[in-house]
Amino acid sequence: MTQLDCNVTNCMHNSNDCCCKAKIEVEGSSANEKCETCCGSYDKKGEGSYSNSMDRDPSKATEVNCKATNCMYNVGGYCDAEHIGINGSKASSSDQTECGSFRCR
Ligand code: SF4
Repeated sequence: MTQLDCNVTNCMHNSNDCCCKAKIEVEGSSANEKCETCCGSYDKKGEGSYSNSMDRDPSKATEVNCKATNCMYNVGGYCDAEHIGINGSKASSSDQTECGSFRCR
């Protein structure tokens, strides 16, 4: 399973540079550069009334569904990279995040 580091500290699922979701979705179906991708699972910290009770303890091992089919690590809609990084230390919305490991085919 992909090892994921995430520095999006404004996301409610982030803890200790890890994601507390067991599965995330990277967006960017027409992306040719990393800046055209984003984490579609981002939820702004402290916003909304839903809970994150589905979250697990922070762990790097994360299942990554990925819509960025132009990425060399995308295999049938899943990320096949051993290790990826989601970037967006100042992000206040999903589209300000990016998959820093995107590599165009
Ligand atoms: S931005 Fe995405 S990968 Fe990072 S903590 Fe939030 S949901 Fe997880």
